[in-house]
Amino acid sequence: MKHSDSRTTDSFHKEVLLALLLVILTLASGFAIQVLLQIQDNRRAEQRAGLLMLDTLEEFETYAWNERAYHRAAAERLTSLPAKKQARLDDLHLDLLTIVSAASPMKDGYVPELGTVVEEYQLDARCAAICWQMMQDCRAENAGYPMICSAYRTQEFQQELFDNKVVRVMMERYCTIEEATALAAEEVAYPGTSEHQLGLAADIIDETFPYLTEWQETTGTQKWLKEHAADYGFILRYPPGSSDITGIIYEPWHYRYVGEKFAHEITNRGITLEEYVAWRRGR
Ligand SMILES: [Zn+2]
Repeated sequence: MKHSDSRTTDSFHKEVLLALLLVILTLASGFAIQVLLQIQDNRRAEQRAGLLMLDTLEEFETYAWNERAYHRAAAERLTSLPAKKQARLDDLHLDLLTIVSAASPMKDGYVPELGTVVEEYQLDARCAAICWQMMQDCRAENAGYPMICSAYRTQEFQQELFDNKVVRVMMERYCTIEEATALAAEEVAYPGTSEHQLGLAADIIDETFPYLTEWQETTGTQKWLKEHAADYGFILRYPPGSSDITGIIYEPWHYRYVGEKFAHEITNRGITLEEYVAWRRGR
């Protein structure tokens, strides 16, 4: 009896050990996958951060196209949004809180009523003069030397950039127009996915440092804008550490008009437009 009991205990121990081993193996493989994913994420973040250390506008343009291609791929994964959600995105389309991104492209044919900010730069008529006033006030307070370097972009301009890319690819690779179109799409954004096409976004930089890099945040203009933009209805659209939510890297120069009330609510909460819109929808 004793002998048999001890054998039963032995096999019980073996089963427990086996079960434990299985649990450990499962946990370990899960952990390993997590680590691998994290490494991959870090590598991508590093690559993107590394690319940010650019000091010419030309380099930045190249970077920006790649960045957009990345987001377009993300958008393609999101095309199967439930109809209800799609309808809600449409409801907000002409609102000041409209989100335009690779994941949420614009409706075809939307052209805002435009007003001139300065020289050839135009914005939605609701904020063009306000944007100009904001830059004037920054200057008047001797805080910085703001200048605008990108404002409203037309669908045609974006289309032109895309078409030029297709032609270049065809010449470089001697391929068909279909192949060239697919390849061009990896580098140049399809028209309709840039917030600049809404007419509510402006890239404002400091004359003393006219570069689109993260260092832009150290300029007097950006320090002043960060403090006062909400009083004029503008928000820092792509704040640091929010690219997971916005899908866009930190852009200290990109300001978006949402109106004073919303701008204060968003700025005071320290959240992104995406989070604010989600919160409003959920109320
Ligand atoms: Zn911009």
